[in-house]
Amino acid sequence: MKKYDYLIVGAGLFGSIFAYEATKRGKKCLIIEKRDHIGGNCYTQNVEGINVHKYGAHIFHTSNKKVWDYIQQFAEFNRFTNAPVARYKNELYSLPFNMLTFNKMWGVITPEEAAAKIQEQIAKENITEPTNLEEQAISLVGREIYEKLIKGYTEKQWGRKCTELPAFIIKRLPVRYTYDNNYFYDTYQGIPNGGYTAIFEKMLENIEVKLNVDFFAEREYYENLAEQTVFTGMIDEYFGYQFGKLEYRSLRFDNEILDTENYQGNAVVNYTEAEVPYTRIIEHKHFEFGKQEKTVITREYSIEYQDGDEPYYPINDQRNNEMYAQYKALAEQQNKVIFGGRLAQYKYFDMHNIIAEALDCVEKHFGEN
Ligand code: FAD
Ligand code: UDP
Repeated sequence: MKKYDYLIVGAGLFGSIFAYEATKRGKKCLIIEKRDHIGGNCYTQNVEGINVHKYGAHIFHTSNKKVWDYIQQFAEFNRFTNAPVARYKNELYSLPFNMLTFNKMWGVITPEEAAAKIQEQIAKENITEPTNLEEQAISLVGREIYEKLIKGYTEKQWGRKCTELPAFIIKRLPVRYTYDNNYFYDTYQGIPNGGYTAIFEKMLENIEVKLNVDFFAEREYYENLAEQTVFTGMIDEYFGYQFGKLEYRSLRFDNEILDTENYQGNAVVNYTEAEVPYTRIIEHKHFEFGKQEKTVITREYSIEYQDGDEPYYPINDQRNNEMYAQYKALAEQQNKVIFGGRLAQYKYFDMHNIIAEALDCVEKHFGEN
């Protein structure tokens, strides 16, 4: 008999939900986490009374009622709705592209006028089948919006020319002929009152967690403590990089505390011109309608990933996907290890996707429906 039923590597959303559900079923879990805190990338830290989203802005949204009901047991959510502002030089535009954006760009008032303006711009371009992001963007919103609100932002974000990027990246950006500037289409949306970390504290209240422990530093010791392992770290590292290293895009966050109550009047302002080196500024207090005397802002820079950087966005191009498929085949042969979460599945997942994935994994594993 081993001391634990499950060793869980990573105290992020996937690992924490698995641990919570296994514990509820009478199993004994140990979580090890290499960072000095729980919560993974959802972690929020209290600075000057403000919950700062340490690994980038996290807005919860879903249309899945089961997922929404599930997360409610750990927190109450406020009514925050994501409506970012785009700043191009000193012009401000409403995002996602909607009638407010078109009115500011061209002075048009009705949906019909806006559609005519965009059609007129598209007609000049002669694009039949878009083959890259630039062509896709122009055929959606015309050249002017592309030049001012898309080109600079996208090239900073991906570190490559829009003509060299795949068209699908821009397809998920909504274009609306209404005055609705809610960024998401989902039924449910909000920020947990008190920040995300409190959710994890509640989930892990009765579970043993060891922080500052890297699985790979003491792998054998920890594996031998438990009957089974749930691994939420990088899958290529787990298998000793035998098929090569999976690639990511990384980010740098520069945080600043300012002695002013309200710096930019919105949680998210995107800087869409190429000349400004960061992609956006987050002002954290606005996620919770904060009235603190000071404010905390974060400038977000998109950077090329190198060893030691945080792996934020998987580069799901053909080469990397093929490499991942090889690791996945190996993972499927391990009958005592469950691989879950964004790093082990090498896929960009929003929080609601991770909750659905984790609950699905729990149901399959414990044989329920
Ligand atoms: P993680 O949160 O990364 O957790 C994995 C944990 O495992 C980490 O804590 C890591 O330190 C630990 N770990 C890894 N390797 C080891 C090891 N060897 N030993 C010990 N511990 C290890 N989702 C939304 O729904 N809305 C948003 O607005 C949103 N914004 C985002 C913005 C950014 C910039 C990013 C990067 C993501 C965003 N997400 C958002 C996605 C969200 O962060 C993820 O869905 C979620 O954090 C994934 O949870 P996870 O458990 O899979 O991974
Ligand atoms: N995008 C843009 N201008 C903006 C915001 C987004 O051109 O002001 C484009 C950009 O190409 C980006 C894509 O839309 O990669 C998706 O943006 P989103 O903000 O949804 O991506 P996220 O940052 O959440 O991954």
